[in-house]
Amino acid sequence: MTTPVLVAVAWPYASGSRHLGHLAGAYLPADIFARQQRMAGNEVLMVSGSDVHGTPITVRAEEDGVTPADIVDRYHSEFLRQWDELGMSWDLFTTTGTENHARATQEMFLAQRAEGHIDRRTSEQLFDPEKERFLPDRFVEGTCPYCDYPDARGDQCDNCGRTLDPTDLIDPRSKLSGARPVLRETEHFYFRYSDFADRLKTYLESRKGWRPHVLNFALGWLEEGLLDRAITRDIEWGVELPVDDLGPGKRIYVWYDAVIGYLSASWEWAESTGDPERWKHWWHNDDARHVYFIGKDNIPFHALFWPAQLMGVADRMDGGELRLPDDIPANQYVTFKGGKASASRASASPSTRGWSASSPTPSATPWPPPSRSRPTPRSPRSRSGLGSTRSWSPPGATWSTASCRWSTSTATAPSPPRARWSPTTRSSWPGSTGTSGARPSSSRPSSSGPPCGPGWTRPNRSTST
Ligand SMILES: [Zn+2]
Repeated sequence: MTTPVLVAVAWPYASGSRHLGHLAGAYLPADIFARQQRMAGNEVLMVSGSDVHGTPITVRAEEDGVTPADIVDRYHSEFLRQWDELGMSWDLFTTTGTENHARATQEMFLAQRAEGHIDRRTSEQLFDPEKERFLPDRFVEGTCPYCDYPDARGDQCDNCGRTLDPTDLIDPRSKLSGARPVLRETEHFYFRYSDFADRLKTYLESRKGWRPHVLNFALGWLEEGLLDRAITRDIEWGVELPVDDLGPGKRIYVWYDAVIGYLSASWEWAESTGDPERWKHWWHNDDARHVYFIGKDNIPFHALFWPAQLMGVADRMDGGELRLPDDIPANQYVTFKGGKASASRASASPSTRGWSASSPTPSATPWPPPSRSRPTPRSPRSRSGLGSTRSWSPPGATWSTASCRWSTSTATAPSPPRARWSPTTRSSWPGSTGTSGARPSSSRPSSSGPPCGPGWTRPNRSTST
């Protein structure tokens, strides 16, 4: 019997270039896994897309003096080009800017609201008195209350990894004007994540073979308490609300809608095959297996928030419950030159373009080589169209389960994929010996875990029965 396998890969923010950390941490492992599953005869659906609603995009647009859509077009085209160069075997790489995605987000919102898991609350949010506007989380910076890092963002501290509320920051400042923000009342929709604490605990404790650091992180978070969170913002860039209760100027916020991309992309892919109901074979199927390839920063979103959002729908979307993640083999940081990769911090630096920040030595060639001719970028909403028409398997390539390292035994790798990590960079592979040095301290429970999660080396283990 073949198993429907959803290979769900982290949605890159279309606000900056990808770097080696993303490639090694999420995209390459997902592609290897998907190819292996296809060879094993399973029905693979590998989807992802550009996350086009992140506040980093509006920040970047303000910095560059262009519209958010300009930024999205620039980076989505770049991603498509790089997937083509790498030979990524997507079934669909789309964006969260489609009408299809808005429809999925709105249907999910309405289903959860009907189930009583979304309510309205008035809160105080930071407001820039000079620019006269509310400040999205990432437009506020300040000192982290947990680790005293001076440049923490309003949504997350890059140093200790905590998600933050902008009002948690010590000495907050507006990224737009530098002014000290003031608190002002505003009304928003909240998702009642706390409704799901017990079910999430049961769900997480029943997971078999998960990487210890993923499971421990998620369970530790639950123990500290799962807070309800506002899922709308006072912004103009995002999915529109399907109800007008709050008045104008409010949109659904990115971290509620981005994860819905896994479902909306499945819809879009099904539509493209001429069988619009086909997505149910993966989402309304007890025999399916859903594997999420993400970086460490995204663990709470995929191990807690997304499962809660899926549970919150109950059977209100097409008459069946939606499948929860079966495995989340999140990777930790790739380090080079003693530092860790961060797109949100490094994206403004020209040196990070085209993976060049991943150069293991000062003399290493940036990848892809700048002189290479490029295919014409596809339209932002098109499929990348690579999976069925191209095949790539590096001759002599081996995946060593003992060392968890990718290695090739021949120098004659075929075109197009020519990842340039030399033997000197292998120690930076997540899970190998090179990752622990620059890991930030965190009060949340965590463990470096074994070198290879079971999901990597024996992906068929739970699908053979
Ligand atoms: Zn911190």
